[in-house]
Amino acid sequence: MIIRSLLTVFFSFFLLTTIAYAEENVDEEEQKVNLFKQMEAITQIPWYYYAAINQYEANIRESSEEDKLIKIMIPDEKWYGLAPHSSNNPNMMILFQGMGNDGDGDGLADNKNDLDILYTFGRYLQRYGHSEQDIKAALWNYYRRDLTVLSIMNFARLIQKYDQITFDKTSFPIPKGYNYSYRNTWGDARGFGGRRIHEGTDIFANYGTPVRATTYGTVELKGWNKFGGWRIGIRDIYNRYHYYAHLNGFADGIEVGDIVEAGQTIGSVGSSGYGPPGTSGKFPPHLHYGMYKDDGKNEWSFDPYPYLKKWERNTP
Ligand SMILES: [Zn+2]
Repeated sequence: MIIRSLLTVFFSFFLLTTIAYAEENVDEEEQKVNLFKQMEAITQIPWYYYAAINQYEANIRESSEEDKLIKIMIPDEKWYGLAPHSSNNPNMMILFQGMGNDGDGDGLADNKNDLDILYTFGRYLQRYGHSEQDIKAALWNYYRRDLTVLSIMNFARLIQKYDQITFDKTSFPIPKGYNYSYRNTWGDARGFGGRRIHEGTDIFANYGTPVRATTYGTVELKGWNKFGGWRIGIRDIYNRYHYYAHLNGFADGIEVGDIVEAGQTIGSVGSSGYGPPGTSGKFPPHLHYGMYKDDGKNEWSFDPYPYLKKWERNTP
């Protein structure tokens, strides 16, 4: 009896916190989209660019413990220009070529204030114009990094296409009903191409088994590589790059720049690679799947095995 009531208490507490957590998340997403759309109304810069920039900056600041909606951080030297950092007077910023602006109308240009930050970024983009090319140029001058600009532009297209800012649907790369096997091969030595360690998981399956995108994202690379054979690279909205290698071939019509959905077939299992274009059959057919993370400065590979295990369990 005691145990049962304890269990009831425990489960109702658990349920309540789950619901509260879920509602909080929905609210937060709505609040963010509202902010971005508000900014679009003021600046005529489409809301999905604000969403994309914010997503990119959230990705490179995962350690930030701050509970703010807007993750964009405009560095002091950009915000204040040569103005003293003690003053949040917008006129001082204009005078000293800082980019800081007052977005919420309180007379202060505060680089910790969500509206001030978004409005400042919007005014900055406006100076270049409103077209895709203009925004690309503005982003390049701000970040000075090709991969950052490419990522943000692709995030924006994805957000615009699906009219949402969260893309957490995932898929195991091999569909149900096909035979496959894999184990954790992270860091194993491999024979070809010198002393490189194995950066990924090999999923063994028969020739022609469909290979599916594990997340939403944009095709960033497609073609031949002497190690990877026919391979395709897809970047998702969380600054993660997904690499699918040794394919037999690609799904019809799939090209660099295309948006793909989690679970969409992108190619099929093969044994291509380890030689000039078209080389195949030097090892048993398998999908080599790698994951890479970009922190805004560097990109590095991490172990996809735990993710594959999770997606395998969760994919219907
Ligand atoms: Zn491999």
